[in-house]
Amino acid sequence: MKWNRIVFKLGGTIILLFLVVLLPVGFVIDQIFSGLVKVLASTEGIKQSVQDIRDLLVLAGIGAFFLALGLTFVISRKLSNPLIQMEEATRKIAKGNLETRVQVISGDEIGSLAHAINDLALDLQRYRDTRSEFLANISHELRTPMTYLEGYAKVVKEGLYETEEERNRYLDIIHQETFRLSHLIHDLFELSKMEEGKIGLNMEWIDLVEVIENVTLKAELKAREKGLEIKAGLQRDLPMVYADGLRMEQIILNLMDNAIRYTEKGSITVQTKRANANEITIVIEDTGIGIPKHELSKIYERFHRVEKSRSREYGGTGLGLAIVKRLVELQNGTIEVSSEVHRGTRFTMTFPIKAKEGG
Ligand code: ADP
Repeated sequence: MKWNRIVFKLGGTIILLFLVVLLPVGFVIDQIFSGLVKVLASTEGIKQSVQDIRDLLVLAGIGAFFLALGLTFVISRKLSNPLIQMEEATRKIAKGNLETRVQVISGDEIGSLAHAINDLALDLQRYRDTRSEFLANISHELRTPMTYLEGYAKVVKEGLYETEEERNRYLDIIHQETFRLSHLIHDLFELSKMEEGKIGLNMEWIDLVEVIENVTLKAELKAREKGLEIKAGLQRDLPMVYADGLRMEQIILNLMDNAIRYTEKGSITVQTKRANANEITIVIEDTGIGIPKHELSKIYERFHRVEKSRSREYGGTGLGLAIVKRLVELQNGTIEVSSEVHRGTRFTMTFPIKAKEGG
């Protein structure tokens, strides 16, 4: 079999016209060629097929291109839509619209970003609410003594009293309220310093027993005035503790002041002992009015008072325990409270000894 091509040359272009096949037929007898079949096939059909395939390929290419474009668009929309939503939400949050939330649909990185934005908005909302509440509390706390000061100063100034004794009573109130105001301002200042992390602790090796004895001396006068006894149970061979001596004194004095303030009869007991190899415990216990169970978790909140109506009578600022808790935690300690109404309250603090005994 033999393939041949009939080609024409037109100018520089070769034009294939036919495909030729030559095939001998019959037998070649005695070297005599008896015949052959010659098939001529036009290349037109083949060319057409090639053209069709080419067209199909081009079409498929164009189709694939548009399909890819469409897919890219859909995917990019799917990816960018939540990002656009988040951008809008953060702008709203920045403008103060803190109720704004982003819808969390996916569980991937975008989903966790949306979660983070929602958490941030929630935190800011909480912060704003507590700040407003705090400011409202401060103004209320400041207003009350100011009203007393204004009223009694006017009474004294205008001579609206009958006896010298009465005048002295009014002056006493003015004195007490001035003291309460300066105490409140001092406490507020302390708290704000702590919250800004600006409070510096002067950590050193201290003897807790010595600190407690100092505080007891200071508190004794107030206790005696109320007919209360202060009992101290101090373990003598305690190791030194790495803490800020003055702050520790402030913590214990605050708790003892409260114990005296909220106890009408009985005693205040202060104990210190070794809890275990690494910790020391300080317990301050009173036989006072106690705190109802449902109030126990709230007493460390700023301005929280168990009995609002009686708070003036007792004369606290409502900030004492908030300060105590922060100071304890700053020194890596813990504070717990247990109480029974009309029976008494017990505060238990635990501090790490840290490093070797004896300092
Ligand atoms: P305050 O200056 O009013 O005493 P604190 O922050 O020291 O504020 O205490 C918060 C509240 O916890 C008090 O108002 C009081 O109701 C309650 N409390 C604190 N200590 C005692 C205690 N030893 N006995 C009874 N109630 C107490």
